[in-house]
Amino acid sequence: MAINVKLNERCGGLCELCNSLPATNEYTVSPKKDDQVDNQVALCTTCLSAIEKNEKGDHWRCLEGSIWNTGPSVQALSYRLLQLCKEEDWASNVIDSAELDEHIIEWAMSAYAQSDVHKDAFGNTLEHGDTVVLTQGLNVKGTSFTAAKGTIVKRIRLVSDNTEQIEGKINEQTIVILTKYVKKA
Ligand SMILES: [Zn+2]
Repeated sequence: MAINVKLNERCGGLCELCNSLPATNEYTVSPKKDDQVDNQVALCTTCLSAIEKNEKGDHWRCLEGSIWNTGPSVQALSYRLLQLCKEEDWASNVIDSAELDEHIIEWAMSAYAQSDVHKDAFGNTLEHGDTVVLTQGLNVKGTSFTAAKGTIVKRIRLVSDNTEQIEGKINEQTIVILTKYVKKA
């Protein structure tokens, strides 16, 4: 597969991550969708398949070099992939020493942004009508009572514009509860 002329010129025919294998793929760094070269990275087949398989490991040592690429798309993709390996010392060192613009980091981290899903304290997905148990005692605003840990809240409602909140009835009163304090029953 051939990549477009502009991109090929920029990368000099080599993968912009590993800088050693021929660049044969145009990769658009999400969430950008258009085909502007500025949003693309030229990749070899090895790097592309490692991305698609979410691979961790030593292959990504090449990011130690690519993070210093001057292209924003290459920086963003490199920073994003480094997150996969961040438990390893070499990767956390690169993350710490990389001097990237804030908007590049935001671009990179957008891949890990919270999705539009309500989750309880243990990562279980919550839905309208679920029953939950409070995992700690809560002071209920505007009232004098405390909802004890272990209180069961039936038929919750999800707060639509905030994935950290649900509504439920305790003592006949509808209150907002933070999802991090509940466990799906
Ligand atoms: Zn490569």
